[in-house]
Amino acid sequence: MSYKNYPMVSRVVFGRGSFSQLEDIIAPKRLSVSAPFIFLVDDVFEKKATLSGRIPLAYDDRVIFISADEEPKTSQVDALVEEIILTCKQRPSGIIGIGGGTVMDMAKAVAIMITNEGESKDYQGWDLVKNPAIYHVGIPTISGTGAEVSRTTILTGPVRKLGINSDYTPFDQVILDPELTKGVPKDQWFYTGMDCYVHCIESLTGTYLNAFSESYGEKALELCIEIFLEDTLDEKESADKLMMASWHGGMSIAYSQVGVAHAMSYGLGYLLGVKHGVGNCIVFEHLEEYYPEGVAMYKKMRAKHNINIPQGICANLSDEQFDIMIDVALSLEPLWENAIGKNWQKVITRQKLRDLYSKM
Ligand code: NAD
Ligand code: ZN
Repeated sequence: MSYKNYPMVSRVVFGRGSFSQLEDIIAPKRLSVSAPFIFLVDDVFEKKATLSGRIPLAYDDRVIFISADEEPKTSQVDALVEEIILTCKQRPSGIIGIGGGTVMDMAKAVAIMITNEGESKDYQGWDLVKNPAIYHVGIPTISGTGAEVSRTTILTGPVRKLGINSDYTPFDQVILDPELTKGVPKDQWFYTGMDCYVHCIESLTGTYLNAFSESYGEKALELCIEIFLEDTLDEKESADKLMMASWHGGMSIAYSQVGVAHAMSYGLGYLLGVKHGVGNCIVFEHLEEYYPEGVAMYKKMRAKHNINIPQGICANLSDEQFDIMIDVALSLEPLWENAIGKNWQKVITRQKLRDLYSKM
């Protein structure tokens, strides 16, 4: 047995208003006046006052606004890297991603692809990245995915939706400022928050569970229950705690794995472009068989906050389309092995998945 030697985010700041320290934090990392910092920023902030005038630009630094309407694609990463390389006098000093999982994943992928040859699709998988990424910073503005701590950046490529999992993927620096999450629409708050909740359930009930993952997963679950089911927190406390739940949920799956909901949600994402958070919710509604207690609690949370979950999204799909989703889901073997055990192939048949998808 060989144990994973897991890389972690080397520096992290936590606190309301801590975003203001960004300038001081990155200044020592500037390589030269012609090596800019590139800020990849969720375009929701183009129209919001929260960040305007607060991004510390100097010399040739620049802001590139990124739409989070669709999840990141390998082609988008490659185009961005080409634009940066062609238009900067020198290799950038760093990439700063400010946004949700979408923008944080873009920032990680761009930082990797600036120093690695070829196209990002060639690096989807495990440990294919050869050269260290450039300095990269993650600043989440919505909580739940754990993308701020994880060793992956999930990209949709021409043939698969799969992460670039590597020791060079994690951020060098993370700034956790819960103030930045103010103004997230309620449904989105729930969907992304449930990503964290589902990480906990899938990790804590999985066959890969160990004391490391359990310690983080239990804490994250406790926080999720406080945030989504109990009425003891005010808005600020709730936002602070959800940011830490996301972190712990991410750490929990780092050293174990996700499970059925994620495997099936990837299928929906690949074929229909359903986004990660809402996709997990759509799937989780139907997983009582695998996660009886987790699903019951999820339904209480959804009802308490009066959240709409899209229905009937698979109603008019063809056999070929179901097959595509089933292929994507089944290809994620470690997720099934974690959820069901070594003999998962005996239990998880194509028909089983077809029946489940048909309900969604
Ligand atoms: P997101 O980044 O897609 O953003 C969701 C919506 O919230 C967008 O419309 C965005 O503009 C908006 N938003 C973000 N911050 C806001 C704010 N402060 N105020 C108002 N609106 C705001 O959402 P997400 O759920 O954080 O990320 C999903 C992505 O994360 C997917 O691409 C998924 O694949 C990825 N992901 C990555 C990992 C990882 O470990 N790398 C883990 C889970 C998910
Ligand atoms: Zn997830």
